Amino acid sequence: MNVCAACGAEPGGVCGGYHELLVEVKPFTTIEQFSGHPCMDYSYGSNARGRIPADASAAFGNTPRVSHWEMGHGHGGGVEIIENWTGADIDVAWERAGNATRWNPPTGDAGVGVTGRE
Ligand SMILES: [Zn+2]
Repeated sequence: MNVCAACGAEPGGVCGGYHELLVEVKPFTTIEQFSGHPCMDYSYGSNARGRIPADASAAFGNTPRVSHWEMGHGHGGGVEIIENWTGADIDVAWERAGNATRWNPPTGDAGVGVTGRE
C-alpha cells in the first residue's frame, strides 16, 4: 500500500512537504522477519535494480511498534519508524487506520484475528 506522510521540515524545502512510502504489511512481530522481502530492498527508494515510485519501501508488522524504512528527510534521513511520524497517539492512529495497517491474506480474510481484535 502507499502511505503519504506530511513533512514539516523546511516548508518548500528539500522534502517537498510530504513523503511517500510503499508499504508491505505482514503479521510479523519483529523487523527481522521481513528479511529478504522487497520492502527491505528499496531504502531511499532505489537499489541496483531500479527505482520505486516512492521515497522508500517500508515494512509494517502487526503493531505500530514493528516498522522500518530508510529515507532522506531534511538534510539527512536514515532509519525511520512509525512512532517518529505519529506522536503520542500512535495506538489511536493505528486503530483508526483499521485493516489498512493490518495483514490482508490473499484468501480474502480481512485480517480479523491477526491483531487479536474481534
Ligand atoms: Zn522530510
